[in-house]
Amino acid sequence: MTDLHQGGCQCGSLRYRFQAPLRDIAHCHCTICRRSSGGLVVTWITVPRAAFEWLRGEPGEYASSATCTRYFCRDCGAQLALFTRHSPETLDVTIGTLDEPEHAPADRHIWVGTRLPWLNLDPQLPDEEEEHI
Ligand SMILES: [Zn+2]
Ligand SMILES: [Zn+2]
Repeated sequence: MTDLHQGGCQCGSLRYRFQAPLRDIAHCHCTICRRSSGGLVVTWITVPRAAFEWLRGEPGEYASSATCTRYFCRDCGAQLALFTRHSPETLDVTIGTLDEPEHAPADRHIWVGTRLPWLNLDPQLPDEEEEHI
């Protein structure tokens, strides 16, 4: 497989692609990811910002914290990407919106201080206290 990967939202209004290897992938257990997605975790891949482009549509965006902007579909609500000023050269993209997420396993957990105590997901992976927010 090549390092060119595509994805999009549930309704098809937004499509994107990036050219980067499928690594640096984290299960995020922060409460902002949980509440903004409705899921138990959001799993993110970090890619060079310059390697990412929108192919179709214009995402909605909002500031989920003082340093973080989240990009979502205005039509279906899917959350696709995140930019944090702590890491201005990169963009985080949701693994769940990739066309082939089966090729993108996570390599660690982040924000484990707010991990749900009954969640049993990839227990073999290392934990980190925090990363973006
Ligand atoms: Zn959509
Ligand atoms: Zn998070």
